[in-house]
Amino acid sequence: MSDLNGDPRQGLRESVVQGRIHTAYLFSGAGDEPRDAALEFVRALACSAATGSACEACAACRRSAPGDPVEIDGSGKSGPLFRHVGDHPDLVWIERGSGDTRVRIGQVRALQQAFRLRSMEGGRRAAVIADAEWLNQEAQNALLRILEEPPDRTTLVLVSGQPAGLLATVRSRCQRVRFARGQETSPLASDEAQEIVAHLENLSRMSTPDLLDWAEEFRGPRAIAAAAVAELLGVGSAWLHETTCGLAAAGAPVDGRLAAWTTLKSCRKSLVQRNANPQMVAERALLAIQEALQ
Ligand SMILES: [Zn+2]
Repeated sequence: MSDLNGDPRQGLRESVVQGRIHTAYLFSGAGDEPRDAALEFVRALACSAATGSACEACAACRRSAPGDPVEIDGSGKSGPLFRHVGDHPDLVWIERGSGDTRVRIGQVRALQQAFRLRSMEGGRRAAVIADAEWLNQEAQNALLRILEEPPDRTTLVLVSGQPAGLLATVRSRCQRVRFARGQETSPLASDEAQEIVAHLENLSRMSTPDLLDWAEEFRGPRAIAAAAVAELLGVGSAWLHETTCGLAAAGAPVDGRLAAWTTLKSCRKSLVQRNANPQMVAERALLAIQEALQ
């Protein structure tokens, strides 16, 4: 195997040209790059020119050209459990539904079904799980069954910004491809963010008057207060995300944290779209996080 971790995209292109394709990959790193690379990679796998990247001229590339993406719904009620890349029948794309707090087991089972079918175009089938850190343990166990007995000529690409959240048994079955990116993309990297995180870590021990005092810091001119609350919500969500993935990996219950994460999302909406009072929004967010930590 060539070193995929020098220039990961170039390494992947070479492996397509040489036909050395693994059945499972884990693309990790911050930001959109791992996800973009996964899209590029599975399109290259389907391309009949096999030049390492999509030639954009063959029938497969015309089919896999990304169009307007269909909204996925993890419950399958208001949309499909997965979509295709473009309208290529052999390329499956899975991610968390827009209103969902996880990638659901039903979505993994749907993938299992899709992989069992004969390839429509006679080539390799490939699937991307674009936010694998949101697979809960049940879904990861279902995924493990695919990884343990991968159907012929299939490739699965897991993309995760938090690979530590995946079960060790899942990680060990994947070819790891790391995308190094500066820490500047992490919402937790700045000193201000670290200060907020230190406060958040204290929340479980904080008395209600202290919590309300903290929320009171977000009074004053709305624009300034709203920006500060937006920062609090951003850091709070990222912090919840990180700690939840760690706990989920250890098999601990995370429903409370996922609920708080959803509350923070709705807080951000009321702040931005409904001009809600920043102090009230901060109060609601902090109370939700505190409850999750109990
Ligand atoms: Zn092509």
